[in-house]
Amino acid sequence: MDMDKKIIVGIAAAAVAVAIAVGVIAISTQPQPLASGDTEKVKVIASFFPLYDFASNVGGDKADVSVIVPAGIEPHDWEPTPRNIADAGNADLIIYNGAGFEGWVAQLNAKNAVDTSRGIELMEGEHEEEGEAKEEGHEESALDPHIWLDPVLAKKQVESIRNGLIQVDSANADYYRQNAQQYIAELDSLDAFIRSELSNCEKTDFIAFHNAFSYFAKRYGLTQHSVHEGLSPEGEVLPQRISEIKQLATSLGINIIYSEDLVDPRLANVIASEIPNGQVLVLSPIEGLDREEQEKGFGYIEKMRQNVENLKVGLKCQS
Ligand SMILES: [Zn+2]
Repeated sequence: MDMDKKIIVGIAAAAVAVAIAVGVIAISTQPQPLASGDTEKVKVIASFFPLYDFASNVGGDKADVSVIVPAGIEPHDWEPTPRNIADAGNADLIIYNGAGFEGWVAQLNAKNAVDTSRGIELMEGEHEEEGEAKEEGHEESALDPHIWLDPVLAKKQVESIRNGLIQVDSANADYYRQNAQQYIAELDSLDAFIRSELSNCEKTDFIAFHNAFSYFAKRYGLTQHSVHEGLSPEGEVLPQRISEIKQLATSLGINIIYSEDLVDPRLANVIASEIPNGQVLVLSPIEGLDREEQEKGFGYIEKMRQNVENLKVGLKCQS
């Protein structure tokens, strides 16, 4: 951006110099030099959905925000295409989750990048089972990347995004500060909503599909179990694990098995069919929206509210 501005200002100055040299006095009739800072948006690329939503809220109409992992695609184990890598090289700012979630981010040759996990105290991921040890995507890191599912940590991610935008586009610093403040206020309301909705529940244990809700569970005093013990919903679940989950559900009196929006629900259905009053609901890790949801304008906050509604059923909450 700054480089472009200098070049455009340079061209404008040259045009004025030429105009003077040829004796054109009526400068006001000359076309206005391109005011690049006013009309050109900052080009921002976010790695996957929650970061895209946060960046869009903070960037508003001063930023042209796009997302790398396409709608409807589960981002664990996803890899960028050469086209993604070329696009990223042209962006003013790359925004990513960090904590090992996007193992491919170093391939992007970003001019500027924001690691939104910076400054957040990360949890260790649980040790992976033998059969899952060869999963890709989490090889470099045993850290748990699912920070965005805790709205309090999401506020920190939003602050990092705000700071990144201010760094590459300081002319609009006040605008970004204002938008970030507004969105942070929405996250505060979400946090208050979750606390109040989950304040009167019979249970604190729930069975997620993959191990994505550790930060969320810690924040709200819940205990997460998961069908996939690993940090990713990919890979095989061994029959032994399936019977463990059935036993666990039965012993804790849990009748809801949570599935996810971007995975095949069959496994959750099988488990639910074999426990008393078993039922499957979605508890979304918000790792991506499907196209329909994206077209409806669904965002992180709407998805979190849906999660809370479904969680209330499993935890048997009064409201
Ligand atoms: Zn995940």
